[in-house]
Amino acid sequence: MSYVLPPPAPATVPVAGGGEFPVHRIYCVGRNYADHAVEMGFSGREPPFFFMKPADAVLPVAEGQTGQMAYPPLTANLHHEIELVVAIGRGGAGIKAADAAGHIWGYAVGLDMTRRDLQNEMKKQGRPWSIGKGFDQSAPIGPLVPIQRSGELLEGAITLTVNGAVKQKGDLAELIWSVNETIEQLSAAWTLQPGDLIFTGTPSGVGAVVRGDVMEGAIAGLGSLEVAVR
Ligand code: MN
Repeated sequence: MSYVLPPPAPATVPVAGGGEFPVHRIYCVGRNYADHAVEMGFSGREPPFFFMKPADAVLPVAEGQTGQMAYPPLTANLHHEIELVVAIGRGGAGIKAADAAGHIWGYAVGLDMTRRDLQNEMKKQGRPWSIGKGFDQSAPIGPLVPIQRSGELLEGAITLTVNGAVKQKGDLAELIWSVNETIEQLSAAWTLQPGDLIFTGTPSGVGAVVRGDVMEGAIAGLGSLEVAVR
């Protein structure tokens, strides 16, 4: 193969205990906790919907490190959304929920950072969300924990603090569409590939951060993710 430009290095996420997970695609689920759906003006009983971020929107944060996120341009309302991230190890199309766990490589704590003002403007105009959701460094993510180590994560606290104050607090058991159901729905629309990441949705309490703020997300069984906004 003779490339006419040097091909970009794959985006990667560190693995707890060593190694790097190459990222293929980043899928995100919208409004997947009832209390967050309600805070965004919906009932919490709508079917799941999906959007994507570019693979290189990841901001990988190694164990024990603090991620450094540059405050992005064009926004005055940068929101945090703490989310369980599922990493796909075995691809497939038409995966049934009952078989989904066998496709999971591992889990991580992630932040679906959102330029809320731009997203709201796009919503109002019925336009795509990309500018609000898919910007550079919009997907900070901590080390991936292999499912062999964590076991299947079906419940457990998911929390986010900003400068030490609790802003978001939920439980994985409150997901409207479980991880396995999400994999079924996603794989009906796209052929999942090894290296895909799925941001599974955020509990209520989303809000703005400014330069100088430090966010710390945590999920029971996965440890924490610390990101400073610069
Ligand atoms: Mn989200």
